Amino acid sequence: MARRELVQIKTAAEITKMRAAGLVVGRTLEKLRAAVEPGITTADLDDIAERSIRGEGAVPSFKGYQGFPLTICTSVNSEVVHGIPRRKKVLHEGDVISIDCGAILDGWHGDSAITVAVGEITPELTELIRVCEDSLWAGLAAAQLNGKLTDISAAVEGAIRPHAYGIVDHYGGHGIGTEMHQPPHVLNYGRPGRGMRLVEGVALAIEPMITVGSPDTFVLDDDWTVVTTDGSWAAHTEHSVAITPAGPWVLTALDGGVERLSALGVACGQPAESAQSPV
Ligand code: MG
Ligand code: MG
Repeated sequence: MARRELVQIKTAAEITKMRAAGLVVGRTLEKLRAAVEPGITTADLDDIAERSIRGEGAVPSFKGYQGFPLTICTSVNSEVVHGIPRRKKVLHEGDVISIDCGAILDGWHGDSAITVAVGEITPELTELIRVCEDSLWAGLAAAQLNGKLTDISAAVEGAIRPHAYGIVDHYGGHGIGTEMHQPPHVLNYGRPGRGMRLVEGVALAIEPMITVGSPDTFVLDDDWTVVTTDGSWAAHTEHSVAITPAGPWVLTALDGGVERLSALGVACGQPAESAQSPV
């Protein structure tokens, strides 16, 4: 790295504001998960997302970001990330769709993504999605106070490597706060114990992207949609997380991450008084 990048450190009150933004994103993604079915278009999903976000008094952060035209990214099958919703893009039984969603509430950002089966999918694709989610939660569990940034990267990679999937290495996670994309960049692979120390008030978006085949990608002529070079299908999952003394607080998970982190033997940093956040 050419120079040290300034990482935004949030106060506890600011993290609480980020939690509110994260819940808008989390609730919106659950509505979208429920809406995914054969016959729906990706533009229909975008409509649902924009209504959901604006209905909670928040603003879609992707809309207008570097010219991106809509509220969510919808990436189907061999599309990895940054797909643009379209009226003519109909989902079919057996497809997989990755939906990436961001919102701004009171000046603070949330950013999260899910990969969802359209109707019945093959066991191989179910496994692809499961491994992508597991690698995300391994990374979130490694977001520990006084750890190092690449502890997260190594944990993500460690959950993927036993499988023969490609790890897309041209894109990764990022700091998040008063802007969607902040330093540091969070790699989805690498050795642990490197990079910045994880101090209280750091917030990161962790987002593994994996493919059934080669990790190589290119961008379509729409200047946005990232697709695999070999046409293999992909999954992308993401959460925003805050480093707290009590453990990682997964700001875009409806339960703050309690269930998945405890299954990994990791304490969740969600404050007890906010555990009853309305869902
Ligand atoms: Mg995202
Ligand atoms: Mg992101």
